[in-house]
Amino acid sequence: MMSRPYNFSAGPAAISEEVLAIAAAEMLDWHGCGMSVMEMSHRGKEFGQIHAQAQADLRTLLAIPEHFHLLFMQGGAWAQNAIVPLNLSRGETVDFVVTGAWSQKSTKEAQKYCRAHIAASSEDTGFTTLPAPATWQLSDRPAYIHLCSNETIHGVEFHELPDLRALGCDAPLVIDFSSHVASRPVDWSRVGLAFAGAQKNLGPAGLTLVVVREDLLDRALPTCPSAFTYQTVAQHGSMFNTPPTYAIYIASLVFQWLLRLGGIKAVEARNTAKARCLYEAIDQSALYTNPVDPACRSRMNIPFHLRDAELQDAFLAGARDRGLLQLKGHKSVGGMRASLYNAMPMEGVLALVEYLRDFEQTHG
Ligand SMILES: *Cc1c(COP(=O)(O)O)cnc(C)c1O
Repeated sequence: MMSRPYNFSAGPAAISEEVLAIAAAEMLDWHGCGMSVMEMSHRGKEFGQIHAQAQADLRTLLAIPEHFHLLFMQGGAWAQNAIVPLNLSRGETVDFVVTGAWSQKSTKEAQKYCRAHIAASSEDTGFTTLPAPATWQLSDRPAYIHLCSNETIHGVEFHELPDLRALGCDAPLVIDFSSHVASRPVDWSRVGLAFAGAQKNLGPAGLTLVVVREDLLDRALPTCPSAFTYQTVAQHGSMFNTPPTYAIYIASLVFQWLLRLGGIKAVEARNTAKARCLYEAIDQSALYTNPVDPACRSRMNIPFHLRDAELQDAFLAGARDRGLLQLKGHKSVGGMRASLYNAMPMEGVLALVEYLRDFEQTHG
């Protein structure tokens, strides 16, 4: 096979070539059943097998304890910004930790369904730091605390989830982990609910993952749509309505691939090495900068700027010529962004680092 370019998109993002090749080989006829996965009944035995294996493999991969339900939903992480308060807030106060564009959007959306209290914000540093949990101004009895554990646009990541009990708070923690799910282990003892759109690190767009602690299923508002009520979705084994079958199938191939790589610890080690390599190249150069506090820099999404912004178009054009795709930054922060999800191999990072050096030599 001809080697494919390296795709640094923030999402929908690169999928492992190994996974794509399996999907291509199975496209017309899945395991001799004469059907494509797209054509199967979601209630048939073939898809039942794919679905059950996907659930089991993801539970193994992320070491999700038994008392958590694993739900395959739709609507993306954006819809969860409404679905979570509809299910968990009881219309009461919810505390938000605002550390970038996504937690900001979550706060705004939740305000339609509950009273949103901003317990902490790093807006004053341009979202380049994380406010220490000890400084959070939690409200009296919040229904839950929401944070975004990896801010995709600003490139800020919680490397440790807060221990709310140590802060004297027994409310559940809700995390939007869309852009670093399956990149590192999760400390489930600190989590009440976690949600993620699949298109960053799990597979194609269309599937939304929700991991929810069992005791949180009993409090949905009566106005919550049935297909978005966690209790209902859980009772029907994520088949209350037709699930996004093909997206689940591709995700299941991704989970198997990650297990073959050695599981979540091995995946994390790869990701740590990749991110270190790129940050070192940025920090050692005179041309590129990353503004994020090194203590909370994201391993997945690495925004960087050229000191001379005039060079940006030339930088991006030269990158494309070398097969380094989708490096343009998010419009709200400008500059460049390299997303190094699981499917980005070290070779892709090395190719980018080499390009950074070459471009600096000719333009620096
Ligand atoms: C991409 C992203 C979203 C939005 O996901 P959709 O699937 O488009 O709804 C929300 N939160 C985070 C952290 C993201 O990275």
